Amino acid sequence: MTDSSSATNAESSRPTKHFIEQAIDADLAAGKTNGVVTRFPPEPNGYLHIGHAKSICLNFGLAKTYGGQCNLRFDDTNPSKEETEYVESIMDDVRWLGFQWDSLHYASDYFGQLYDWAEKLIQAGHAYVCDLNAEQTREYRGTLTEPGKNSPYRDRSAEENLELFRKMKAGEFPDGSRTLRAKIDMASPNLNLRDPVMYRIMRAHHHRTGDDWCIYPMYDWAHGQSDSIEGITFSICTLEFENHRPLYNWYCQSLGIHHPRQIEFARLNMTYTVMSKRKLLQLVKENHVGGWDDPRMPTISGLRRRGYTPESIRNFAADIGVAKFNSTIDVVRLENAVREHLNRVAPRRMVVFDPTKLTITNWPAGEVEMVDAINNPEDDAAGTRSVPFSGTLYIGADDFREEAPRKFFRLKKGGAVRLRSGYIIDCHDVVKDDDGNVIEILCTYDPATKSGQDNSGRKVKGTIHWVSADHAIPIEVRNYDRLFAVENPDQTAAGQTFLDHLNPDSLSVTEAFAEPEINTAAAGDRFQFERLGYYVVDADSSDKQLVFNRIVPLRDSWGSMVAKGKTN
Ligand code: ATP
Ligand code: MG
Repeated sequence: MTDSSSATNAESSRPTKHFIEQAIDADLAAGKTNGVVTRFPPEPNGYLHIGHAKSICLNFGLAKTYGGQCNLRFDDTNPSKEETEYVESIMDDVRWLGFQWDSLHYASDYFGQLYDWAEKLIQAGHAYVCDLNAEQTREYRGTLTEPGKNSPYRDRSAEENLELFRKMKAGEFPDGSRTLRAKIDMASPNLNLRDPVMYRIMRAHHHRTGDDWCIYPMYDWAHGQSDSIEGITFSICTLEFENHRPLYNWYCQSLGIHHPRQIEFARLNMTYTVMSKRKLLQLVKENHVGGWDDPRMPTISGLRRRGYTPESIRNFAADIGVAKFNSTIDVVRLENAVREHLNRVAPRRMVVFDPTKLTITNWPAGEVEMVDAINNPEDDAAGTRSVPFSGTLYIGADDFREEAPRKFFRLKKGGAVRLRSGYIIDCHDVVKDDDGNVIEILCTYDPATKSGQDNSGRKVKGTIHWVSADHAIPIEVRNYDRLFAVENPDQTAAGQTFLDHLNPDSLSVTEAFAEPEINTAAAGDRFQFERLGYYVVDADSSDKQLVFNRIVPLRDSWGSMVAKGKTN
């Protein structure tokens, strides 16, 4: 597995550069910048999700492509929602994805500098203290179709503003009673330029600065200046910040400081899930899932616990690319990325669900033969393992029919099949219980057909997997499915919420029987259960019982099931 390996540059094999690379190339060629410094700037108010992974791969990927740097910066300007737990999980997730930041920063480290710059803007006549409350501020702002009105406090002198702002900082005014605002243009068609708030009064305990401050900078005032302080050259963000760009530019220009170039790209939206942190938090807080790392969550920690590899997520990000227009990506592309990777690297194991006993009537009584099984047909270096074969086996109930249609190539009465890594067997009879259910399948084996040594010339259409009944290890399997039953859970009818779209069958727990080699598995190990799907050992496993999470089935069966109107 490649968990510990660092990110390879999957992007470099793309034939054409995406629009952000083209913009960077142009700036480099024009001498507007002489290097590439990017950052990933999460707000520590929740766990990262697959959308953040796209942004991480993009920002760290660009730094790598251009031999530049990428910082991790916590945009921690809103103390009421931020917690240290989130900071730690974010660092874990970035590292797990295979990236290492060049330096680590917190916007809160810049509170002092931001304050000084605010005084500078006040002195230059570009900012003022406003006594309108939140509701009045909204009223004065106007709408998309109507210009705003100037605040009655807009024309205070620089001296008065400075004195009031210092008193705001000193805690002389109640929360929400005043703000510091940039003096730009209340008639601007861009609402972000209608004298945006720079500071609010808020007595809240900050996860790093404690109670040092009772005024906190707004996102726009903190973000661009933080970029500037760190010498970021390309500040890459999602499209909803496009109309914040003029404000970003205004602040940098008014202060006369290093001016990064903001470039926007489309955020990732994906089918069958929600991606807003508020909704993810709600799923956790209301116990619709087991936690942020529930294997059904689109969080990076959820995907990790589900068994996704970092490489598969990076490949997914490279596959979907970077665009300027919003779209929704089919979750099947994410699922295919992990299938494709695990097909190459996951060892195979035989595991039987819903077991039916199969007795080989001509097998020497009590004999056990160790047969060689190939660990991974895609990887010769993975070698082989020994699997015990005996006269009493289990096969999956699905792999047998007493009477079967012609195209049924598994085992049927009167038919033959190959047991993977074992022998060809012929079924001659069945034993039934009083209700007529098959409880035992009676077969003979053909000693001349041993896998790897078969020169009998016999051919059969099907190969099925099996375990030896006396040697089988019972395991718990958690078969996870999509958390939501509809493609777009955010789209709701009147009176509904996204929670009404939860898939009631997103988890089914079952017991299965595995070949004994499974006992060497440790938490985090991933396997292909032959003919079934990819599975990972969950951390809930104990010495007594291994617990597996289904990562993905071998093939995408969801599409066809939805077509048939069943989703379980
Ligand atoms: P949410 O709206 O869910 O709370 P956010 O955008 O506020 O998410 P941040 O922590 O501010 O989350 O995001 C950190 C970085 O990740 C930002 O640069 C943001 O643009 C980017 N990002 C967030 N969501 C996505 C997404 N779905 N696709 C791509 N990038 C994203
Ligand atoms: Mg945000």
